[in-house]
Amino acid sequence: MPVDIQFYNTIHAQLVAKHVQLVAVSKTKPQEDIVSLYELGQRNFGENYVQELVDKAAALPADIHWHFIGHLQSNKVKYIAPFVYLIHGVDSEKLLAEINKQAIKQNRMIACLLQVHIATEETKFGFDAASLEEFINSKRLLNYSNVVVKGLMGMASFSNDATLIDQEFTTLKKLYDKTATALNHVHFDTLSMGMSSDYEHAIAKGSNMVRIGSLLFGARN
Ligand SMILES: *Cc1c(COP(=O)(O)O)cnc(C)c1O
Repeated sequence: MPVDIQFYNTIHAQLVAKHVQLVAVSKTKPQEDIVSLYELGQRNFGENYVQELVDKAAALPADIHWHFIGHLQSNKVKYIAPFVYLIHGVDSEKLLAEINKQAIKQNRMIACLLQVHIATEETKFGFDAASLEEFINSKRLLNYSNVVVKGLMGMASFSNDATLIDQEFTTLKKLYDKTATALNHVHFDTLSMGMSSDYEHAIAKGSNMVRIGSLLFGARN
């Protein structure tokens, strides 16, 4: 299935009006599909696999903002550290420490979102509310000179239960507000929640960054 240009134009206009950023999730999709949206002005793209991201970044225009949205293993941070724009799935302090180390080596700052576990499924990675609060209140973040924690990211349960999804997004928004107050820094401004199936719910609950793949690029195999 080709890229849905009409859907892109529609959602882009909607999101601009609501001040919500669109990350076009291009994982597993060919470079031509990314170029199709790039030509319409899209610059933020999300990928889940390190090798695929490295290959695409090398081949595609340098002004693309590459978002790493998957589960990142510490030993692979070094491959994306030179160029990644925002790492969404920072789910442990150990990973944050490694990102900081690689950012220092690259002599740059790397922007990150802390991933929070809000879904009922066991398989989704992330801080829980208590460990997030402990980490923020500990001020250990000050040890990491070259990471900027820009916000939080979360995924709702894979479910048709709209009430459950709304509850999970509301929980994340509350944690986001609480963390913003505790950190009190100007760079903390991003709440990444919502994907193809639930982005409208996420926006209604306060998301300002959505990660949309299949609605733009078609279903993945
Ligand atoms: C794949 C993926 C998305 C996009 O999913 P769609 O349902 O295709 O929109 C968003 N966020 C994360 C973390 C993903 O892995």
